[in-house]
Amino acid sequence: MEEPTDQPEPEAGQVFESIEERVDRRDDWARRRRKSLPTDKQLLVIACMDERIPVEEALGISLGDAQIFRNAGGKVTDDVIRSAALTTNFFDTTEIVVVNHTDCGMMSAPDEAVVEGLEAAAGGSLDDVDLNPALPSLDLGDASIADWVSMTDDIDEACRAQIDYLEDHPLVPDEVTVHGYIYEVESGALRRPGERVSEQVNTRVSE
Ligand SMILES: [Zn+2]
Repeated sequence: MEEPTDQPEPEAGQVFESIEERVDRRDDWARRRRKSLPTDKQLLVIACMDERIPVEEALGISLGDAQIFRNAGGKVTDDVIRSAALTTNFFDTTEIVVVNHTDCGMMSAPDEAVVEGLEAAAGGSLDDVDLNPALPSLDLGDASIADWVSMTDDIDEACRAQIDYLEDHPLVPDEVTVHGYIYEVESGALRRPGERVSEQVNTRVSE
């Protein structure tokens, strides 16, 4: 959001005009959803919750530009679909960007170890644990805990899969554009999935 200090000084006799503008801007900001105003960039970002990803800085955006959904792995889960469906259908969001990253915690352990750890935490099977306490009827049923946790083998493939899930989902309108990037924690740069520069610069095989 533009801060009042960014404004040029008002001309004599027209001070009220700049005040009016400022008041209107504040009102738009404070009642944005009620006034059906979209985010400044009409953007939804899905990113991993990892503390090393400076989402706004990496994407070159600021406060007010985007809605940002972060979870373990930057995965398209049911609640990501829920959020994407709401913002694209009701808040004029036209673009979705997925940000996955190198050295993701979702690649750090085998499925079995994660399942065992969660079962130990629950003191047994997860069958009797509310996955969504507000909707206890939503349970895992016969589904596998490993699939629910959704660990990752290959971050580039995982990123492409998230893009496909969003693009193909019936609750996300076709005109919404979906892109995905890998944030490299080692360099602080973004790259497209599948474009691992290190693999190219460290071999003799040309592109
Ligand atoms: Zn991660």
